[in-house]
Amino acid sequence: MNKKNFPLSKGELEKITETYPTPFHLYEEKAIRDNCRDFCNKFPWVSGFKNYFAVKACPNPFILSLLREEGMGADCSSLAELLLAEKVGFKGEEIMFSSNDTPPEEFKEASRIGAIINLDDITHLETLEESTGIPEMISFRYNPGDLRSGNVLIGQPQEAKYGVPRDQIIEAYRRARDKGAKRFGLHTMVASNELEDGYIVETARMLFELAVKIKDETGIKVELINMGGGIGIPYHPEDQPVNLQAVSMSMQELYDQIIADNGLAPLKIAFESGRMVTGPFGYLVTRVRHVTRKYKDFVGLDACMADLMRPAIYGAYHHITVLGKENEPRNYIYDVTGSLCENNDKFAIDRPLPKIEKGDLLVMHDTGAHGYAMGFNYNGKLRSAELLLQENGSCLLIRRAETIDHYFSTMLFPDAPHGF
Ligand SMILES: *Cc1c(COP(=O)(O)O)cnc(C)c1O
Repeated sequence: MNKKNFPLSKGELEKITETYPTPFHLYEEKAIRDNCRDFCNKFPWVSGFKNYFAVKACPNPFILSLLREEGMGADCSSLAELLLAEKVGFKGEEIMFSSNDTPPEEFKEASRIGAIINLDDITHLETLEESTGIPEMISFRYNPGDLRSGNVLIGQPQEAKYGVPRDQIIEAYRRARDKGAKRFGLHTMVASNELEDGYIVETARMLFELAVKIKDETGIKVELINMGGGIGIPYHPEDQPVNLQAVSMSMQELYDQIIADNGLAPLKIAFESGRMVTGPFGYLVTRVRHVTRKYKDFVGLDACMADLMRPAIYGAYHHITVLGKENEPRNYIYDVTGSLCENNDKFAIDRPLPKIEKGDLLVMHDTGAHGYAMGFNYNGKLRSAELLLQENGSCLLIRRAETIDHYFSTMLFPDAPHGF
């Protein structure tokens, strides 16, 4: 069992809500920093080990900035993410650009910044060549097809729109070299929220073996292997986190057998995990508006699926703590809902919880990645604020909540077609 603790008492949280009304996402600075150090320390045998944090998981400048201070890189997939990473201070090859169906202007920007460009398809070589020319360093995203199975979050590799298929990957490296590339990376992303150590190790084996095949067939020595993101986190109290120590040790054995023995060492290994870096250290804080009894018992919150979409779209589990009732028996069954006009706007269905009353503060756990980031304005819902619980114990506003003005800011009206 992993305990689902929240770092503040009810009294402390109530005090914060006097300044910052609910709902908001709250991130724990110290826990995120400790986790970054722990992650990097697990791979001492890799020279130049890096996790390129997937910016899409938590695109907040304060969070990105502290991740940069802890030695992480940034994994970007769009123009906006590239510019955000640059603004926060990531430089050159600290940024990996892993896009798909990429427009030329994004390649241009990635090239201006000096990011490592990771191509999703062999045809993108032409787009890149036409937009900026072929850079010295090129990486390809590999899709192993039916050699691997995915999971419900990411789907099966052979159904995926991503990556260079097996029968084109060697040709992709040849073509890149013929067009002038001199340094090469190899990347894949085959899992999402994967909790099995063995699956991650198998991904390493697959990429190590492919690096050898690329060398044997083309003479190209890949210098960077990016294992992708997708390391899972224990959303359920019963889930076991990935044992990174064990994963690292197994990867080192494979590295020695496959990479070193084939003359490919030293080779850099990277990840681009988002979820496992910030996920467990973010919380959605929300207040109960109504407790209603229909054919079932419902708890209506001031947050909705615009603040946290994972339960509605994947049926994902997020643990819920009722502040001040942490030790009460969970002997009531509720559907916990938001106010959006979609019946799947439910954070939990048939969830055992302590008796809930109007005004209670609830915390959804593990919202630090793919939480706020997936927010939207459907149904006129406004995105919440984000707060950072700093190492010194004080709370800092790190993103303002949207207001009605944001909602109206792109609208044109028939009686004022150029603005209002
Ligand atoms: C989403 C994504 C990631 C991050 O996934 P996590 O589950 O947050 O680790 C990394 N790389 C690519 C290409 C992605 O699309």
